Amino acid sequence: MNFFQDKGFQIVDFNQSADIYVINTCTVTQEADRKSKQMIRKAVRQNKKSKIIVTGCYAQSDYEDLQKIEGINLIAGNGEKNSILQQLEKINRHDTVIRVNPAKYLKKYDSNLKNRSSSLRARAWLKIQDGCNRFCAYCKVPYVRGPARSRPVKDVLEEVSDLSSNGVKEVVLMGINLGTYGRDIDKGEVNLAKLISLISNFKGIKRIRLSSIELIDIDAELLDTFKRCSKFCHHLHIPLQSGDDKILNLMNRPYDTSFFYQKISLIKETIPDIAITTDIMVGFPNEDNNSFSKTINFVRKICFAKIHVFQYSNRKECLADLLPNKVDNRIKKERSKMLQRLSKELSYDFQNKFLNSTAKILVEDEIKDKEGRIYSRGVTDNYIKVIIPDFVGKKGEIVNVKLNQISSNYVVSSVQISR
Ligand code: SF4
Repeated sequence: MNFFQDKGFQIVDFNQSADIYVINTCTVTQEADRKSKQMIRKAVRQNKKSKIIVTGCYAQSDYEDLQKIEGINLIAGNGEKNSILQQLEKINRHDTVIRVNPAKYLKKYDSNLKNRSSSLRARAWLKIQDGCNRFCAYCKVPYVRGPARSRPVKDVLEEVSDLSSNGVKEVVLMGINLGTYGRDIDKGEVNLAKLISLISNFKGIKRIRLSSIELIDIDAELLDTFKRCSKFCHHLHIPLQSGDDKILNLMNRPYDTSFFYQKISLIKETIPDIAITTDIMVGFPNEDNNSFSKTINFVRKICFAKIHVFQYSNRKECLADLLPNKVDNRIKKERSKMLQRLSKELSYDFQNKFLNSTAKILVEDEIKDKEGRIYSRGVTDNYIKVIIPDFVGKKGEIVNVKLNQISSNYVVSSVQISR
């Protein structure tokens, strides 16, 4: 958190003993809740004299549960992150103070989180949006992050300028619902398409990537921007969640498989080398063998370049919690494994299409193997992870390579042919 550093605090590794621990929690699944609690307990054990602050989505939604954990001094909701330092000064080590307001009152984007230039890599994450208005039946996000809010354009461009001056070459735009960017500010004058064009004007920035986008937010203007903007990375992460229309409907997702297929086909026609990756949720209530088979078949039909697989977990705020026919945990695990295997197969097929072709790689860092051989490491714009043997590139350098083979550790090994 920048404001701690600005006040002279030194940031240390979480495993070290510290005076203050800040645990920024997630609550997207039950597993995330469990891990959040595990981290808090670890911090309490590491230094019994430290002050412990818990913030983020789990603090926002389950502060009553957190109160039961001994040793927490401040539980700060998502709207209270800015005031953590002021609160901290007032709190005694034996207090537990709760500062949580309902997320629905979060009306404006909170610009307090920025990249720290000293820790920047060739690629930087740039948050431009928060919150969501959609209420998918399984998702807690709208309850804990509040309504969709866009970061002011000026603020975004100032940070892009900072990043560019600090050597960042690729920005990854991130948010909860990126496609809704701009709708809530300045009468919707600058939407995501326009923001991408504005960012592309920065000479130092060579690549612009999106972290994730909902399919229904990709309209003709945005698709045209993807095609025309030479800096736009040919990679879209578009959550599908299920390949069965019955399940999509129960999930309250705003499309069916026919719409999804048609739109993805259009994107692929427009940008033929694009990598489309996705999220699939397994074990949503009422997902029977037939539903899951439909998902497998649909995933194969789309040929995603990679799949992130999630297992459904009950969230008490969400509509899906009320649905009958919950799926057994063992079945969820089996389905998850099957999809992970399929993801590997599809990733291989996607990379295989580009073997023996040339590509531009943004060099991010270098690694050594057991024998001491050096490799530069980077990614193509369509997110194929590449290592270049016996080559030490500069961080942020873009090099032309020939994609030679798919290796087990790193996806594709390659040989540099020119800078
Ligand atoms: S669109 Fe995404 S963040 Fe919003 S409710 Fe649905 S899954 Fe959650």
